[in-house]
Amino acid sequence: RAKAEGRRCYHFYIPEMDAALQERMELDQAMRQALEQNEFHLVYQPRVELVTGRALSLEALVRWRHPQWGMVSPGRFIPLAEETGFILSLGPAILREACEQIRVWKARGVPTVPVAVNLSAREFREPGVVERILTVLAETGLDAGDLEIEITESAAMSSIDQTIRTLTELHGHGIRISIDDFGTAYSSLNYLKRLPVHAIKIDRSFVSDMEQDPANHPEDAAIIRAIIGLGETLGLKVIAEGIENTLQRDFLLDHGCVQGQGYLFSRPMPAEEVEHMLLHSKALDPGDS
Ligand code: C2E
Ligand code: MG
Ligand code: MG
Ligand code: MG
Repeated sequence: RAKAEGRRCYHFYIPEMDAALQERMELDQAMRQALEQNEFHLVYQPRVELVTGRALSLEALVRWRHPQWGMVSPGRFIPLAEETGFILSLGPAILREACEQIRVWKARGVPTVPVAVNLSAREFREPGVVERILTVLAETGLDAGDLEIEITESAAMSSIDQTIRTLTELHGHGIRISIDDFGTAYSSLNYLKRLPVHAIKIDRSFVSDMEQDPANHPEDAAIIRAIIGLGETLGLKVIAEGIENTLQRDFLLDHGCVQGQGYLFSRPMPAEEVEHMLLHSKALDPGDS
């Protein structure tokens, strides 16, 4: 009887596991080809001064346009690339493209702002990561201040001693670091205090959960206030992610958060649009009120 049940389980589960595994293998295979065939490109989302909408810096975000599947979301392929190690090929290509883009802008006299590149946990743990970044900066003729690095709170807080060493080195070379998705990893404040970081980014979930009205989401509002207070205490810049409406922006401003990004100001844009924005240094429309 147990055997019969066991067989039933076998027939029921394995085909599904096969399908999931098959899909991941297909995606992984496609990613590797995509890099050779230049299917990846970067878009840039401004991080703005909330009160004026002026772009202070940009965040580079990778996009993948597959010839048959269309756009594949980084939320789908980045975690897989991390797992399979493909990120160790993709990551350097992303960093290089971002730096190359800044170089081109500077050469054309575009008034640039710093560009933040997301570094995945696996890349951040890779030996020689600091040298790799410095090499790309040198080869593209950029200053350390042209580039910023974003690493997630969970990546930063695992192997804390190594994190401190790597961040201290980057900091020593003048490269600014932001802690991404802050508030999601329950990090020890004692550790945060020891990290030479420049900014913390309030995770989008806290901002977007406020939906239309912060008053209806007292917990999220309280967490946001706490993160802003923490930033003030530790002397860190606080950047809010995912601002979609003026209520969210005004709540943040009222509580002392002066910088953020989100669809209210701008979606991530292709390089040509960013160039236009930088050249005309037009304040992004922060909406009414
Ligand atoms: P992240 O670094 O936290 O990036 C913020 C995400 O929020 C981006 O999604 C951005 O497009 C989105 N976003 C910005 N403003 C709004 C808003 O107002 N509303 C909503 N709903 N979303 C907003 P995206 O580009 O899909 O990237 C998702 C995640 O994938 C990133 O989260 C990051 O973890 C990863 N990722 C993206 N590009 C790269 C990359 O070049 N390298 C690495 N390692 N990871 C990347
Ligand atoms: Mg980010
Ligand atoms: Mg984030
Ligand atoms: Mg995120």
